[in-house]
Amino acid sequence: MSQLKSPGLSSEAIAKRMAEAEDALKRMQENPRVSKIVVVVPADACPACMEVFGTYPKDQVPRLPMDACTHPLGCRAFYQPFLTEIYP
Ligand SMILES: [Zn+2]
Repeated sequence: MSQLKSPGLSSEAIAKRMAEAEDALKRMQENPRVSKIVVVVPADACPACMEVFGTYPKDQVPRLPMDACTHPLGCRAFYQPFLTEIYP
């Protein structure tokens, strides 16, 4: 009898995700070419994550993963840098 993997993430997996997100955010905040931070959420994200989808000033970025996330696979929102384009 095969057992399905339990839904949701282990606390270790969540801690790892938090550390990764924090690290990524820090690097973007330190990069002068990054003008803003975009929070990207998957198309099937839960309502809590959908709400944070958007572009934020570097010092007003919401913390990921979302505490309020109700998705069975855990919060999959992530940061993406919004680069300053240099026009000639
Ligand atoms: Zn979510």
